[in-house]
Order: sequence, then structure tokens, then C-alpha cells
Amino acid sequence: MALRRILHYPDPLLSQESAPVEYIDEQITSLVADMVDTMYAAPGVGLAAPQVGVLKRVIIIDCGSKEEPDLIKAVNPQIVDSEGECSEEEGCLSVPGYYASVKRKSWIKVRYQDMQGHWIERESEGLLAIAFQHEIDHLNGKLFVDRLSSLKKGMFRKKYQRIMEQQKEQL
Ligand code: ZN
Repeated sequence: MALRRILHYPDPLLSQESAPVEYIDEQITSLVADMVDTMYAAPGVGLAAPQVGVLKRVIIIDCGSKEEPDLIKAVNPQIVDSEGECSEEEGCLSVPGYYASVKRKSWIKVRYQDMQGHWIERESEGLLAIAFQHEIDHLNGKLFVDRLSSLKKGMFRKKYQRIMEQQKEQL
């Protein structure tokens, strides 16, 4: 088991665009294995490679339960169709301690490669659809707090500063 360090906002790597994966080689499979360990240890329901400092288009998601896990490993994911609107409270392992509602598509069709390189098309809605959009945003250098209104963004910055200071005091 290998845990990787999760970068926290405002780390500049989090706002960069990730590059497509050309070959699913040993480097990518071990990255994904480490990401899975890191996500479950956090714990979280999703993790994108840039969050552990690797600017590659790889995400993992598990919106299942402890009894019935539903681990998705997606390479080069892209949303090819979407419909509807929803807004749910989101959090992010890279923005610890802060939660806010974000407007998202309520239904999406996503295309990605599995670990064997095969292209898969999958429709999803609800929590899973939100998780896909949140993680794919990471690959484009976007965090959920970037999607807040400017008023809410201002509130976020103030609150996040306090959260960071409290964490420093605890160290
Ligand atoms: Zn996130």
C-alpha cells in the first residue's frame, strides 16, 4: 500500500491542465493503485491524478458503500452528452474542511478508457454524475470553489484562510 500526498488549494498544480494518457503502462497502473489506496485512506469518493501532483488525465471514483464498493478507474474521461441541472453540497480532498453547493448537470454520458485501454461509454445521474463532473474538472485545472459565485468565492477565501490557520495551530 502506497499513499501519496494530496495537494491542497492553493497549490498551483491544482489549477493546471492535465495531459492525455497515451499508453497505460506500468507507471499509470501503479499511479492508479496508489490513488485507490490514497482515496480510501482519506476517505473520499473521488480522486484525480493532479490532486497527487501528477498532471495526467486519470480519475477514480467510488460512490458505492462499504458493503458494496463501486470503484471506477477512468483514463482520458470526457463528457460527451449531458442534460438537466442539479445542485448538491460538494467537498474536495484538496479543499479540506469546506463544503458548498455547486450547479452541475444532473445526467451525463461519459466516455473513458478502462485499465486495459478499452473505451467505455457510461450514463450516470445523481451522485455519480456529480462525481464525474467534479473529477473531470480537476483534469482541466478547475476546483469546485472556482464554480462559486463571486460573492460566495469571497466568503470561501475568508473561511478557508481560517481553516488553514486552525490546521497550522494543530500541527
Ligand atoms: Zn476534488
